[in-house]
Amino acid sequence: MCFCHLVCRNRYSSQLHRSLVGPLRSPRKLLQSQKPMAGFFALLESIQLGASEFCIMARELFKCWFLIQEFEKSGDPEKHFQALLSLAKEGIQKGKVVAIGECGLDYDRLHFCPADTQKKYFEKQFELAYHTKLPMFLHMRAAAEDFCEIVERNKHRFTGGVTHSFTGSAEDCDKLLRFSNMYIGINGCSLKTSENLDVVKGIPVERMMIETDSPYCEIKRTHAGISFVKSLWPSSKKEKYDQDKTVKGRNEPCLVRQVLEVVSGCKGIADVEQVSKTIYHNTCRVFFPQDLDSAADALLAGHRDAE
Ligand SMILES: [Zn+2]
Repeated sequence: MCFCHLVCRNRYSSQLHRSLVGPLRSPRKLLQSQKPMAGFFALLESIQLGASEFCIMARELFKCWFLIQEFEKSGDPEKHFQALLSLAKEGIQKGKVVAIGECGLDYDRLHFCPADTQKKYFEKQFELAYHTKLPMFLHMRAAAEDFCEIVERNKHRFTGGVTHSFTGSAEDCDKLLRFSNMYIGINGCSLKTSENLDVVKGIPVERMMIETDSPYCEIKRTHAGISFVKSLWPSSKKEKYDQDKTVKGRNEPCLVRQVLEVVSGCKGIADVEQVSKTIYHNTCRVFFPQDLDSAADALLAGHRDAE
C-alpha cells in the first residue's frame, strides 16, 4: 500500500491550490518534483509492507522518498534498523527530514500484520526517534490501549508528535492528550459521523493539527462534517484532467481548508483564521521549532494589523 500524506502548515493554503493540483496527479511524481511547495511539508510516500509502516517527512521539497522494507522480511531487523537510521541522519543533514513516521498500531488491518509484530516494531521505531532526536508522526486505529502503553514506556524517547487521522473515541483522545507533547491530527476521516464531530469538539485547538491525508480521506457529501464546509473548488473526472480543477474523488492539499472549516464550525468558532493560526503554531512547535520565532512574529504582526 502506498500513499502520500500532506500536512498543512500554511494558513493561506487555499491560495496555493493551483500549484498543488498538478503535481498531485501522481504521488510519486510529486515526491520527485523539484518544485518548492512553500508552507507545506510532506510525509513522504510510505510503503506499508506488513510489519512496518514507515516513512520520513521531508520539508518543502518532495524529491526524496524511501522504500521501506519491513523489519522482519528484511531477514536482519537490526541491519534494517541501522539502514533506516543512516537514511534518516542523511535526510536530517540535508535539511529534508523532520520526523520519524509513520509509526503506530492499526488493529483494523490485522490481515496485513498481526498485532504482536506491530507492537514489536512500533517499539523499535521509538529508538529511531531517540537516536535522531526527531518528533514522530503516528497512526492509531482501534489500538488505543496498546498504543498508549507503548508511548508511555518510551516517553523518554519521545520528544513529541502527532497521532494523525484520529478516529478514536473521546476516551482515546483523553489518553493521548495525557502525553503533554502529543497532538491530535484531524482529517476527513475524523469528521465522518456526528460522534466523530463530538470528539473533535472536545479537542483543544492548542493540541490539534490538521491534514488532508491526500489522496485519501476527503470530506464526502455523506459525512457529518460537510455541513460546515464553505470553500469549494471546481472538480472534474480524472479522465478529463484540468490543471485548474481538483480531481473528483481524490483528496487534494487545498482541501485542508475544508478540514479547518469543519473543525471551526463544529466547535462554534467563527474566527477561522485564528484557529488556523493556532494550528499553524502547533505544527511549527513540533516539526519546525526553528520557525517558531518567525511564526510568533507573524502572529503578532497579524494582531497589530487587526488593531
Ligand atoms: Zn496513517
